Amino acid sequence: MKTTLESLDYSQSSPFVRKEGKPVIIAGPCSAETEEQMMATARQISAIPEVSIFRAGIWKPRTRPNAFEGVGEAALPWLARVKAETGMKTACEVATGKHVDLALKYGVDILWVGARTTVNPFSVQEIADALHGVDIPVMVKNPVNPDLQLWLGALERLSKTGIKQLAAIHRGFSTFDNGPYRNAPKWDMAEAFKVIVPEIPLLCDPSHIAGKQDLVELICQQALGMQMDGLMIETHHIPEEAWSDAAQQLTPAALSMVIDRLLKPSKSDKVKEELEGLRQQIDELDDTLMVLLSERARLSEKIGTFKKANDIAPLQIKRWEALLQQRIQKAQAAGLTSDFISNIFKLIHKNSVQIQNRIMGIM
Ligand code: PEP
Ligand code: MN
Repeated sequence: MKTTLESLDYSQSSPFVRKEGKPVIIAGPCSAETEEQMMATARQISAIPEVSIFRAGIWKPRTRPNAFEGVGEAALPWLARVKAETGMKTACEVATGKHVDLALKYGVDILWVGARTTVNPFSVQEIADALHGVDIPVMVKNPVNPDLQLWLGALERLSKTGIKQLAAIHRGFSTFDNGPYRNAPKWDMAEAFKVIVPEIPLLCDPSHIAGKQDLVELICQQALGMQMDGLMIETHHIPEEAWSDAAQQLTPAALSMVIDRLLKPSKSDKVKEELEGLRQQIDELDDTLMVLLSERARLSEKIGTFKKANDIAPLQIKRWEALLQQRIQKAQAAGLTSDFISNIFKLIHKNSVQIQNRIMGIM
């Protein structure tokens, strides 16, 4: 896939570049609520040396009306105060040209485009137009839906207008089955993004993927394990009293512990060895599975030849339904979920029918 990203330029001082190899860490509340909340949260976060950027939502895109929609312009001087008193760089979301003008007027250091805005090329273009001729780092969250093209398109629009320091934020996707997540991570999409545009730093927002505090650290681990360049973690001095996203925000103390565990030196040789041993066992089992699958495929060929000789059609739906039911029952007895086994056998059966169709001359 070809992209039209023009003259990206990351100097060593860019906020998106790792310092001493350490990932970039952005923290701060989902929303700016009051000056006291902002200053209390910022002071505690600034005691964590790894955090270089303070985030806060000034304008909040809410799914339903009547929810808290952000303080707006009145909160921008608070961000300026955070910067003056703590030395952290500041970042906020912009969704319109007006937001851009105001954020620039109050000296916000870094802007980001939110997931609900990335989906809309008109809005992204409006933001790009407002940024024409401005040199400011901009981050683009993935669109709400798993569409790489929209994500890349937003980055291209910003690049075209002259933005040289771009970063992307993986914040998960709204899908039919989000599993335990608020937004399904779909790590394969993040990996695909890295392959297509390796030159753009990719950060992860574990908070909006998780939707709850307990899951945040695990998602951070996964993101750093994939060599992502940084993390944006929602942090509030009293999360349970937050006006938005209360369930997913960490306290600054919890954030500090998470960062310590994430960045501590890699595991001991003994741990690595034990993991290697377990992986070897998995490799051996997979080899056995492969032999069994190939034996099964050969048997399907035999059945195909037999059916051809006896004028029997390859797909016998009654036999397939009975087979699947029987496998599901056995799976349950073996402690496997019926979903898992039924998915595997659907693939195995599809392959078997394809083999038999080939023998019959049906392509
Ligand atoms: C946010 O960062 O607070 C936010 C609204 O996130 P997203 O755009 O990822 O939903
Ligand atoms: Mn939020």
